[in-house]
Amino acid sequence: MINLPAEIIDGSKIADSIMNTLRDSFKEQQDKTGKQARLVLILIGKDEGASTYSRAKIRRGEKLGVRVDLIKPDESISEAELAVEIGQLASDPTVTGIMIENPVPKHLSFSKMTDLIPFYKDIDGTSSTNQGRIVNRQEFLVPATAAAVVRILSNYPELTKSILTIVNRTPVVGRPLSQMLLNRDYTISVCHSKTPDVVIYTRRSDVVISAVGKPNYFDDEMINPDCTFIDVGINYVDGKVTGDANYQSLVKWVKRITPVPGGVGPITATLIFENLLKAFNYQNLNSGKM
Ligand code: NAP
Repeated sequence: MINLPAEIIDGSKIADSIMNTLRDSFKEQQDKTGKQARLVLILIGKDEGASTYSRAKIRRGEKLGVRVDLIKPDESISEAELAVEIGQLASDPTVTGIMIENPVPKHLSFSKMTDLIPFYKDIDGTSSTNQGRIVNRQEFLVPATAAAVVRILSNYPELTKSILTIVNRTPVVGRPLSQMLLNRDYTISVCHSKTPDVVIYTRRSDVVISAVGKPNYFDDEMINPDCTFIDVGINYVDGKVTGDANYQSLVKWVKRITPVPGGVGPITATLIFENLLKAFNYQNLNSGKM
């Protein structure tokens, strides 16, 4: 069988178009209210991915005309000390959104710390309240990575009827994404490290969404040629960013693929600001009641 080269889904182009809309919306809302939207990022530790992701958001914030501040507490900060910092940001009316960059050092519980952020300032939608709202089909601030995948899939409405597998079950990616896709009538399987044979699921799937976090995990033996492969993984190999796909092999094999870098990542960094805009509007409408 001769395969055509895959359609390469250009995440930067999708992100640019969302950025244009967001820039106008922020300007309109900030002019109308006389207030400025402000995102505070909390980066703890030296994780390369988390640092890169926070820099990407600072650049995007500048382009959108919103304020983004980066707080870098000492790596040894305790949960009690971090709780005090979060509490101050939570009650500061000039702060629209708070985001703790993931991963955090092992002595801190990411989920416990994000649950200290009021749901209307929880800009990556990872708190229990915002995750619960997804399950109850009352989506508000949703995890941006999951939203990025949903945004990509929305360009291919025929895929709603297809067989879809997510390889990840974490609260940042797989769990919210699976619920968001169910809310949109997709039919999904979710695999993880204890799944006896991931290939049984991926080989029969029309869409595979991978966030395993292992370079070269997927090659053409594991995927069918009609597959749309969405690569959420971010791995560093010899100083270069790569996804979970053996890209050189899959790009000649599958129907569509998101590259890394330039696929899911730029859309994710942009959709953080869609959440910030929602939070800004919500807080302006409900000020005095919160
Ligand atoms: P994580 O906590 O390491 O989760 C990895 C997931 O993959 C877990 O659900 C794990 O299963 C599963 N897994 C691990 N090895 C497996 C195997 N051999 N077979 C099947 N499943 C396996 O990481 P994360 O925070 O969810 O992030 C996942 C990846 O996405 C990372 O590369 C991260 O950098 C990237 N990421 C990208 C974006 C973006 O915007 N592009 C955003 C966030 C994260 P268990 O649950 O059983 O452990």
